[in-house]
Amino acid sequence: MDTNPGFAPATTAEPTSLRRNRRDRLALRPADFVEPRYADVVDQHLARTLTAEDRSEEDGLDPLERVTCRTHRRWLHDCVASPLHVVIITGTRWCRACECALNVAIDQLAGDVSVRCPSCGDTPATRATRQLVRACRASLAAAHDH
Ligand SMILES: [Zn+2]
Ligand SMILES: [Zn+2]
Repeated sequence: MDTNPGFAPATTAEPTSLRRNRRDRLALRPADFVEPRYADVVDQHLARTLTAEDRSEEDGLDPLERVTCRTHRRWLHDCVASPLHVVIITGTRWCRACECALNVAIDQLAGDVSVRCPSCGDTPATRATRQLVRACRASLAAAHDH
């Protein structure tokens, strides 16, 4: 009667402290820290932004809101034309009516981005298309912001 087998010493402190250690480690990094996997990226501004966005993604940044691309290690507007940037599930760079990939035209000088379906000629009025255009515009702006 004097012991309660269901009452164990609290051990929940461990995961919390692990998480805190990770945050401390991240906080100690200098602002211009570049992830080793991006060490050979010539554009330092791009390398720093890639590093920062990888970190933000761990903290909840939507990958489709990124202005850099982890896979191609480039600014989004420089590789958005790749077939890898078509995400059928979310309707990103995808015409659901025609079931084909959308074309993205980037005007570097004007900072403009237009998205069009090569089949029906439409720009799908979807959240995914608005998000894609927004991210590409932000990418253009970030790339020129030195
Ligand atoms: Zn890419
Ligand atoms: Zn279409």
